[in-house]
Amino acid sequence: MKITIKVITVGNWKANCYLIAYQNEAWIIDPGEEAENIITQFSLDQLKILGIVNTHGHFDHIGAIAGIQEKYKTPFYIHSNEKRLVHQGNLYRRLAGDFTIVKTPVIDSYLDSLTALPLGDKEIRIHLIPGHTGGSVCFECDGHLFPGDLIFESSIGRADLPGGNKELLQSSVKFLLHHFIGFEIHPGHGKSFILEADYIKNLKTTTQWD
Ligand SMILES: [Zn+2]
Repeated sequence: MKITIKVITVGNWKANCYLIAYQNEAWIIDPGEEAENIITQFSLDQLKILGIVNTHGHFDHIGAIAGIQEKYKTPFYIHSNEKRLVHQGNLYRRLAGDFTIVKTPVIDSYLDSLTALPLGDKEIRIHLIPGHTGGSVCFECDGHLFPGDLIFESSIGRADLPGGNKELLQSSVKFLLHHFIGFEIHPGHGKSFILEADYIKNLKTTTQWD
């Protein structure tokens, strides 16, 4: 059987929230905003939610975690380097011009020492890919990869936001190009795409690469 992947684009910053489901179990990745919408569109009532995992802790990816956490009593996992970003989420929302306040989620476990998350007889592998933020991770399952804001269809993620580092970002992009050519990439914003060997050559903007 194949895994099912669903996406909803949420909030002012059009962040992608993903569902990875297999048989009756599911993980939610990066619920950035609109908890009720995510719950309805992903039919969460009909699934066993194993947990919420985040690629990173930027404010536009964390706003709906608390709402889902409370309703389903489901654990939230993120890398420990993202703790400060999560706790300062409302500050960064304000700096980005959004004065609504969201509930700060409780971090139940850190991803730091985990190499994979269970999903039926499959697993979701976790790889540390710092650069966009210090504790950015990507999730890999069955030919699909969720890199958060490290790479998009025609640009590389920013290294100039809180937690960013350009050298680390470049080496993480090289890591993806080394291991995941041919994978379907599901980024934190924008459309999904297949990672091709000439990805860097075909970028529309290369500011993070030069
Ligand atoms: Zn980000």
